[in-house]
Amino acid sequence: MMSLEKLVRRNIRNMKPYSSARNEFHGTASVFLDANENPWNTTYNRYPDPLQMELKERVSKLKEVETDSIFLGNGSDEAIDLVFRAFCDPGMDSVILIDPSYGMYEVCANLNNVECKKVLLNDKFDLDADKILALDNDWVKVVFLCSPNNPTGNCLNRDEIYKVLDKFHGIVIIDEAYVDFSSQPSFLTELNKFPNLIVLQTLSKAWGAAAIRLGMAFASPEIISVFNKIKYPYNVSKPSQEAALSILSDTEKMQKQLSQILFERSRIEKALTESPYFYKVYPSDANFLLVEVGNANNAYNYLVKKGIVVRNRNNITLCRGCLRITIGTPEENDILLDVMKSLPI
Ligand SMILES: *Cc1c(COP(=O)(O)O)cnc(C)c1O
Repeated sequence: MMSLEKLVRRNIRNMKPYSSARNEFHGTASVFLDANENPWNTTYNRYPDPLQMELKERVSKLKEVETDSIFLGNGSDEAIDLVFRAFCDPGMDSVILIDPSYGMYEVCANLNNVECKKVLLNDKFDLDADKILALDNDWVKVVFLCSPNNPTGNCLNRDEIYKVLDKFHGIVIIDEAYVDFSSQPSFLTELNKFPNLIVLQTLSKAWGAAAIRLGMAFASPEIISVFNKIKYPYNVSKPSQEAALSILSDTEKMQKQLSQILFERSRIEKALTESPYFYKVYPSDANFLLVEVGNANNAYNYLVKKGIVVRNRNNITLCRGCLRITIGTPEENDILLDVMKSLPI
C-alpha cells in the first residue's frame, strides 16, 4: 500500500476542519451557552454528539471493532461520498468499479468528477483480481468491491478479494450491506491485517432501519480520522442516534427476521425454479433474488399492473432479461409467486 499520507488529497491533508462548540468543550458543565441553541424544548434543542460516542460503543461491542476504527454516517452513501472527497482529486484521479454493481459508486464518482474504470465480472458474476491489478497505477486511488454484490446477490471469491487487498496500492472498499444474509464471514476481522481496507455496513437492510439513515464504515484509525476531519460536523441527527441505539439493542428481533427472510429466500428460489416457466434464479447470499424472466420489461409492467413493484435490471451489464426481487413477508411472497404463475413471456 502507498502511505496513507500520500493517498489523502493534499488540500484535505492541509486543511483545518471546522471546530464546533461540542468539539471544543470536553468535561462536565451545567450551563451551556456556547452553541447559540434555544435553551428550552429539552428533546431536540441541543446539537447532537458530533462523534456519536455512545452509539459507537454499542457498535464496537457488537462488531468487535475498536471505536476509533468506526465512522458513522448518514447512510453508507455518506461514507462512499467521503471516500471520493478524501482520496480522489477531481479531474485527475480515478477509481476501479466492478460491473455490474451498486449504482451509487458511479454516481458519486461523476459528482466528484472522478473517472471510473470498470472491470467486467465473469459469467458467474465473480471477480478476477488480475483484471483489477492490470489497471493499477498512481492515479487509481480506490477499488470498490461489493460482497454480497448488488444486483447479482452473490459473494465475490474470497481468494480474489485477498489478492486485491494484498497487491493494490490504494484503498480497497468492501461494501458489506448484505453481509448479515450471507453464509460467508465479514472482512471486519481482516482490518488489522490490511491498512488499506474500508468495510462498509448499514442498518438499512437486515436491521430494518432504512429510514433512520445510519451507515457504518470500519477502517484503520488513520483513515477514520480523515473521515472525521471532512464530514459535516453533526452528520448523524439525535433522533437517528437514539433510534439506532434502540434498534441495535434488539439483536434477537433482527435474528428472527433474518432467519425468516433466509427461509423465504429458498422457498421463492425453489418455487420459481420449479415453476412451469423454469425461471433461472441466480444463487443469492442477500435478501433479494436476481431472476431471469425472458422479457424483463414486459414482466416488470405486468407485475406493476398487479400492484407489485420489483427492480427491472434489464439494462444493467450481464443482467439482460432480469428482475431483482426483494424478499418480502411470507404473505407478500405468496402474492408474488401467484402472479409469477401467469406472467406473459
Ligand atoms: C442498500 C445498499 C447500501 C445501503 O446504503 P445506505 O445509504 O446505508 O442505506 C449500500 N451498499 C449497497 C451495495 C446497497 O445495496
